[in-house]
Amino acid sequence: MQKQKLLINGERLRLELERFAGFGGTENNGVTRLALSEADRRARDYFRSCCEELGMTVTVDDMGCMYATLPGVDNKPPIVIGSHLDSVKKGGRFDGVLGVLTGLEVVRTLVDNQIKPNMPITIVNFTNEEGARFEPSMMASGVLSGKFDKEVMMEKTDEDGITFGEALRSIGYEGDEANRLREAAALLELHIEQGPILEKEGLSIGVVECVVGMACYEIEVTGESDHAGTTPMSMRKDALFGANNLINEIRKRLSVLDEELVFTIGRVNVYPSIHTVIPNKVIFTLEARHKDMEIVNAVKGIIEGLSSLGVNEGCEVTATKLWERDTVWFEPELCQLLEQSTESLGYSNKRMVSGAGHDAQFIASFVPTAMLFVPSINGKSHCEEERTAWEDCEKGVNVVLDTVLALLSK
Ligand SMILES: [Zn+2]
Repeated sequence: MQKQKLLINGERLRLELERFAGFGGTENNGVTRLALSEADRRARDYFRSCCEELGMTVTVDDMGCMYATLPGVDNKPPIVIGSHLDSVKKGGRFDGVLGVLTGLEVVRTLVDNQIKPNMPITIVNFTNEEGARFEPSMMASGVLSGKFDKEVMMEKTDEDGITFGEALRSIGYEGDEANRLREAAALLELHIEQGPILEKEGLSIGVVECVVGMACYEIEVTGESDHAGTTPMSMRKDALFGANNLINEIRKRLSVLDEELVFTIGRVNVYPSIHTVIPNKVIFTLEARHKDMEIVNAVKGIIEGLSSLGVNEGCEVTATKLWERDTVWFEPELCQLLEQSTESLGYSNKRMVSGAGHDAQFIASFVPTAMLFVPSINGKSHCEEERTAWEDCEKGVNVVLDTVLALLSK
């Protein structure tokens, strides 16, 4: 007979998710819990008290990241579970907090069942994942992984001119650099999908193989401003008509590269933007994401060759790369463990990629890391309508628990 699987307490998980939704809760059932705000402080304080009640030790690093550790029989590098407690303005009740409460529910289940792990288990709350109050996003994990400079981050200001460093001190969460996450046996982040795929395919779990690479460009089209009434059409250099042609070409050429490629022209500025004046300048952005960097490179080739397409209405075209990021692949063995746990629990699943950024992608540079997605209802996130079915949250946490048990028995 098959051994009964250890399962989490789904009701307790739901109650905690609802309690956290109260820290910065909005009128329309969303959450505004900006990093290092009063609401964030209350969520942190409550999270700390929950962990201490379980006999965990809570430390804080110099970026304000919290680490709650359940000691192991052996003092080995820990298994780390977590995500972030901050939200965007008028965000949802699941983004980030689900990953932190996953850790809490896993540890509570171990403690309930008197399982003493042979290595420590740490729950992490990464500071300022969203970058909604202080840019950039994934700020603390960026510093931990050496991608961002701490001193520069400390000086980042919010819209009231308060620096990140000041905010950290004012809520009492400036800790010690010695407490930073440096090594771990594994890091597991459960997160809502923030897209429509799992729901559309009727699946409960997504095993995330990577965070996709991307490239972002700013394209400037320069024409000439003249009077809108007196200049014949044949004698114009209209930057907007030029940009329009270029946008059509971009759409046509990128659409045939690969069906998984996503690309967005998210910002278009027209100058001088006066209805009686022919536009002399248009600036627009193009960002494209794909897991295969060869596809991303093909996009770069197309964008950098725009000026030679002969569709620019006599305007000058320059394409400037703002930034790019390589695909981050998660640890294949951990992905396999997550998949095995999902299968053994009988949950429907698929392998997928993350189009959005997450702390896990930075931590993956120095810790074996993997991510799991649960469905977002209507694909919605970063808004008050963000929802995930309770049973899907529960399933996701069960998979993490089962994977932790597998790692402990290795
Ligand atoms: Zn998130």
